[in-house]
Amino acid sequence: MYDYVIVGAGSAGCVLANRLTEDPDVSVLLLEAGGPDTNDLVHLPAAFSALYRTAQDWDHSTIYEPYANDRRIYLPRGKVLGGSSSINAMIYMRGNPLDYDEWGPGWTWDEMLPYFKRAEDNERGEDEFHGAGGPLPVSDGRSRNPLAQYFLDAATAHGLPANEDFNGAQQDGVGWYQVTHRNGARASTAVAYLHPVMSRPNLTVETHVHALSILFEGERAVGVVGARLSDMIVHRAEREVIVCGGAYNSPQLLMLSGLGRPAELEELQIEVVAESPEIGLNLHDHPNSGAVYSIDEEISLFGALNEENLALFEAEGRGPLTSNVAEAGGFIRTREDLGAPDVQLHFAPARFQSEGLVQGEGHGFALGACVLKPKSRGFVALGSPDPTAKPLIVHNYLEHPDDVASMVAGVKTCLEICATGRLGELSTGMLIGPDSHSDEDIEAHCRRRLQTLYHPVGTCRMGDEPTAVVDRELKVRGAEGLRVVDASVMPTVPRGNTNAPVMALAERAADLIKGELPVGAQGELPESAPAA
Ligand SMILES: Cc1cc2nc3c(=O)[nH]c(=O)nc-3n(C[C@H](O)[C@H](O)[C@H](O)COP(=O)(O)OP(=O)(O)OC[C@H]3O[C@@H](n4cnc5c(N)ncnc54)[C@H](O)[C@@H]3O)c2cc1C
Repeated sequence: MYDYVIVGAGSAGCVLANRLTEDPDVSVLLLEAGGPDTNDLVHLPAAFSALYRTAQDWDHSTIYEPYANDRRIYLPRGKVLGGSSSINAMIYMRGNPLDYDEWGPGWTWDEMLPYFKRAEDNERGEDEFHGAGGPLPVSDGRSRNPLAQYFLDAATAHGLPANEDFNGAQQDGVGWYQVTHRNGARASTAVAYLHPVMSRPNLTVETHVHALSILFEGERAVGVVGARLSDMIVHRAEREVIVCGGAYNSPQLLMLSGLGRPAELEELQIEVVAESPEIGLNLHDHPNSGAVYSIDEEISLFGALNEENLALFEAEGRGPLTSNVAEAGGFIRTREDLGAPDVQLHFAPARFQSEGLVQGEGHGFALGACVLKPKSRGFVALGSPDPTAKPLIVHNYLEHPDDVASMVAGVKTCLEICATGRLGELSTGMLIGPDSHSDEDIEAHCRRRLQTLYHPVGTCRMGDEPTAVVDRELKVRGAEGLRVVDASVMPTVPRGNTNAPVMALAERAADLIKGELPVGAQGELPESAPAA
């Protein structure tokens, strides 16, 4: 019997496990379906896509995408301590203040900024926007590929402003991304929040335990039924079960446990615990598309994984293997009337192609544009009552014409930048890209090639409406003793990469769970919470 049972040791789960066990009188069990983060590739930044379709990946995919040529689109998700933060591209990004203001009371920018700062240990130091001394190392990239510099030169020559801090006063512009690294190696949430507190006697971490369902007594969640290989294990929670399985798996687990639309659950012979009409709906993400070029100069990351660079990485935490691949990028507005950027650029000094599943053979670079405020919505549903079966996922990427317009304009900007300056001179040809610069050809290319930028959210939406899956304290409506804390509760996706937003959300959720924070408190951290 534990006070709290947390399902999922990902970005949110590790933050909660750390913060809740700060009180020695509180006991926490953290369950993780994947294994420990002992694979060296987890810690080697440039190798993140080598983890795709390995034991560290849930290897989800969409069942089909009606607006992207009916393709099955690959959706990697971390299945390991640290969750997706152990396989991600490590860009440290918060999004735009407007993103949080639209989430409403309790979660506005003024209320979230203190949590971003509390989490952060930025090597540039503390200021109005940044924190130092928190658990999460935020660093400037140690590998700055010349191609990424050529991209920045081309983008500024194209008219985009330079930006040295996307998490500062202004989001627009292009620049180097800051990364969640410590000494050149990945700082996942497991590295930053979990390993340092593993020895706390009130924290138990169990890996290789797949949570199959939440155990209910009436409408109260009292524990979790899990499986380790063929062993069934029941863990009971005195106070709460907290689901942190991510945007695909959290709604799946809740539905398997009897929360959802009764007709659908009954069809799968799942006993209904409570009606939750929106569960699994509102799925959205940042779709990404762009172009890949070949070059003759041997300066990209191709071939970087060699003995010499490995030795440099291991001895000094330096060299090209510290690259997070998406080293630079930026935020643009494709229309003048927009109040904030609608497209984010990611530049890779490598042939990042075929959804990252195929290693590009030869030197090259890639530039992609992702849609930051998509209006298309998809869903996660159960295809089977078998808890080990994959959920059915449809994103409906590019269903909404506004998403198409942003992506087409964003890709056009990518093509123009890639033809500019030294970048354009180096290119020996476009390997992947549209047939021409016409809107029609670019749109056709996007539907043919788009991939996820890995930021699914929204499937256990937080809101005031009785239909929203969780309330403003992230408590599941219709149940007691049950919360969801992860990307799935975000009502809308922030304009940017989602790891830091999930962590800040979990930081604030920890204070809510501890009862230290009145909902709607303005900006100030509770007194008992350490500032950093
Ligand atoms: C390839 C990739 C690249 C990315 N790049 C970036 C980036 O550069 N910057 C950025 O900010 N964001 C990036 N992201 C997104 C970011 O990592 C995620 O938004 C964030 O990690 C999500 O956190 P979460 O807590 O919601 O879920 P996760 O971190 O995915 O955690 C969910 C955890 O729950 C576990 N789990 C799930 N179901 C069960 C179950 N039934 N039983 C037990 N355990 C379970 C999982 O194994 C996992 O450990 C990337 C993501 C990916 C996949």
